[in-house]
Amino acid sequence: MICLVLGLFAGLFQTACSGPGERTFVAIKPDGVQRHLVGEIIRRFERKGLQLVGLKLLQASEELLREHYIALRDRPFYSRLVQYMSSGPVVAMVWQGLDVVKTVRTMIGETNPAESLPGTIRGDFCVEVSKNVIHGSDSAESAGQEISLWFRPEELICWEDTAEHWLYA
Ligand code: UDP
Ligand code: MG
Repeated sequence: MICLVLGLFAGLFQTACSGPGERTFVAIKPDGVQRHLVGEIIRRFERKGLQLVGLKLLQASEELLREHYIALRDRPFYSRLVQYMSSGPVVAMVWQGLDVVKTVRTMIGETNPAESLPGTIRGDFCVEVSKNVIHGSDSAESAGQEISLWFRPEELICWEDTAEHWLYA
């Protein structure tokens, strides 16, 4: 009962939290963590002007990862993908801002690093599609699903970003 009330309160608090734009889910994959790219990647999103509202380092379970990549369950690489994603800790994040889903995908680059332009994360830091360092939601709808899969409402922090005044008209 207490959990239910707290959950409802957290939900209300979350929806009452108004910042500019939308939210997206980002995960630095196990290769990104092992290769010490966490700071570099966060730095890029911060410098861009996006607002960090959720962040944690975790060892994701196969169950969570199978659900996260459920749309790809019939692809031949699905099992290998789940194995790779559970091979070490990942950094899960939620970023907020105007058109943030599209902006983050552009900053990440193409799925295949070989097709990713220099200046993008995959263009700069990796070579193979099966070890492509980072995940970003591909639509507002999947962002919503992924955020609720990876984060509890109370793990998303509503804070006033004072840079907002200098970023938005
Ligand atoms: N992937 C892979 N082989 C492929 C295509 C995809 O190993 O031929 C992996 C890769 O890690 C990719 C993830 O599966 O990031 C999810 O694929 P998706 O098509 O959703 O690409 P993304 O949205 O990550 O760019
Ligand atoms: Mg995808």
